[in-house]
Amino acid sequence: MKVLVAVKRVIDYNVKIRVRADGSGIETNNVKMSMNPFDEIAIEETIRLKEAGKVDEIVAVSMGAQQCQETLRTAFAMGADRGIHVLTESTLEPLAVSKLLRAIVQEENPDLVILGKQAIDDDSNQCAQILAGLLGWGQGTFASKLDFIGRKVEVTREVDGGLETLWLALPAVISTDLRLNEPRYASLPNIMKAKKKTIHQKKPEDYGVDISPRLETLKVETPPTRATGIKVANAAELAIKLRDEAGVI
Ligand code: AMP
Repeated sequence: MKVLVAVKRVIDYNVKIRVRADGSGIETNNVKMSMNPFDEIAIEETIRLKEAGKVDEIVAVSMGAQQCQETLRTAFAMGADRGIHVLTESTLEPLAVSKLLRAIVQEENPDLVILGKQAIDDDSNQCAQILAGLLGWGQGTFASKLDFIGRKVEVTREVDGGLETLWLALPAVISTDLRLNEPRYASLPNIMKAKKKTIHQKKPEDYGVDISPRLETLKVETPPTRATGIKVANAAELAIKLRDEAGVI
């Protein structure tokens, strides 16, 4: 089985986000970037499947600036076999990402595509769903457990109020949720080996995909800072404050 995994380079989840002074977006200069955490989970899951003898090849795909190659090297150090980098300095909206992924799927013919459930920078939560729609494949989003039996996969999904179980016939699209697994740290020998793995660099034009944005960002603002809270001694004091100061009772 061949698996395609989409890995996005995003601002590291530990970084405190800063809005640019002119309100045009988020500051990314001199900011630590890493692989989107849900994509690390996707890579980890495919490596476990490879270790279990169910997957033969893991192809990692990243789209964006030249530095996406670092993200692909991280995927290699974890265990991915080879990479495809779609180079562009333009902002890629989920529709463009999904169209590019569809074109790559048509070239690579994977049995499965695994993506993160959402990218933590724009929080779109759209690419897996759009890709499945474009391909006409089944989709199992927010997966917290996967079981492969022959050409079928049982997907346990985290939904509001519980878990849902689906059977998908391959080929299919899956998106990962937080509880699917805990990604490994890359070992030093694997980091060294990662340097030798191949990245094919492409451009959106190579796939004939129009990536021009459909949306315009008018302004980005930080949320208003919340006033600090106070501690009250008892319920009676709370009631007085709610009545006299907050005016809500
Ligand atoms: P989104 O729908 O934008 O929240 O992203 C969901 C998933 O799509 C991510 O977790 C990635 O697996 C994939 N994805 C989105 N943008 C990119 C990108 N530029 N390069 C590679 N994968 C991406």
